[in-house]
Amino acid sequence: MNVSSIAPCGVLCDLCMGFQRTKNKCVGCNYTGNKPYHCTVCSIKECPEKKGNEKLLCSECDKFPCKRIKNLDKRYRIKYGESPIQNLQNIIKDGIDAFIKIENEKWECKQCGELLCVHRDACLQCGTKNEYFPEAE
Ligand code: SF4
Ligand code: SF4
Ligand SMILES: [Zn+2]
Repeated sequence: MNVSSIAPCGVLCDLCMGFQRTKNKCVGCNYTGNKPYHCTVCSIKECPEKKGNEKLLCSECDKFPCKRIKNLDKRYRIKYGESPIQNLQNIIKDGIDAFIKIENEKWECKQCGELLCVHRDACLQCGTKNEYFPEAE
């Protein structure tokens, strides 16, 4: 896994529902090809601050953490139990390789060993509960 597997917002593409599904699979945030429409107009991926460096992570941007990232962070923490801002801060502090290693360990399904999906409450492979997914209120 390399930096291309990390979305500019700091979430691993490998954890995304669009990326994990087998039917109509997404190519990932950093690639051109099949992806949901809303991802082709993502305000973070297409942010003008990236100025031609389309693989820029938001952690490398002078404006980090901007309002866009803060809004996404709030939504992701509440809905999915994952913090893009914390991820990006970990990248700044520990580097990409350490971040990827920690995320892979964190999200590994304890039952089948595949990565959990950040957007679902259970492993797509074996149905084991995703312990990070917030309980419904
Ligand atoms: S579905 Fe969207 S957010 Fe998920 S990996 Fe694809 S482009 Fe990125
Ligand atoms: S931190 Fe904000 S301003 Fe900077 S690239 Fe990301 S979305 Fe754009
Ligand atoms: Zn599993």
